[in-house]
Amino acid sequence: MAIYKRVLLKLSGESLMGAQKYGLSTDVLSEYAAQIGAAASQGVQIAIVIGGGNIFRGLSGVGRGFDRVRGDQMGMLATVINSLALQSALEASGTRARVLTSVRMEPVGELYTKARALELLSAGEVVIVAGGTGNPYFTTDTASALRGVELEAEVLLKGTRVDGIYTADPEKDPSAVKFSDITFDEVYERRLRVMDLTAFTMCKENDLPIVVFDMDTAGNLQRVLDGEPIGTVVKNQSTK
Ligand code: UDP
Repeated sequence: MAIYKRVLLKLSGESLMGAQKYGLSTDVLSEYAAQIGAAASQGVQIAIVIGGGNIFRGLSGVGRGFDRVRGDQMGMLATVINSLALQSALEASGTRARVLTSVRMEPVGELYTKARALELLSAGEVVIVAGGTGNPYFTTDTASALRGVELEAEVLLKGTRVDGIYTADPEKDPSAVKFSDITFDEVYERRLRVMDLTAFTMCKENDLPIVVFDMDTAGNLQRVLDGEPIGTVVKNQSTK
């Protein structure tokens, strides 16, 4: 039984590449769609924010002569491509899903508003919020924190390739130990990297817990929703 009623799921663009070096893996998309569909069919309201790093990142364009703002707009459009791909995979597997966009681009998707997102979520649709925050100089981590707070999600689920937060990078330091939970303050003190600081601080200040978990193992989304301690929970001291 899921312990959450409404969650914000953040998926990185890079995770959608699978074993490829660029773009979209249809295997990963259908695997994610299966996990999300199973969770949604139990009545958990799921809003999703997807990154665009598998296609374009604004900062990486700057070194190649792109203007930062234009580059960020290209990055935001990349998140729209990923969102449409996931919507398509969800619908192909029988899960109703809607793309709402942070900037106007009908008929690709309706413009995001909190009211519309909540209406669709209560009608049992998965809502994918595409286009980041709609503003340059932000990331989709910040977009996920913003939408998570705005939509009053109980938790921000950050699905990644690693299974939680470690004392050091486990790929470089074999003695690194995983935290099962940690406070926002301890993450700052230890200078651990969970999300960028803008996103992280937004979650802390609005008391939105984060669960970092490995989304690439089938069934893990369900395990996290059931409250199984498979990842790392970041929360404020005072919250349970
Ligand atoms: N981006 C932006 N504003 C936002 C969200 C994203 O300008 O609110 C741009 C930015 O250029 C970023 C790119 O979109 O590099 C892709 O997003 P992100 O890097 O967060 O993707 P991820 O690393 O999660 O794949």
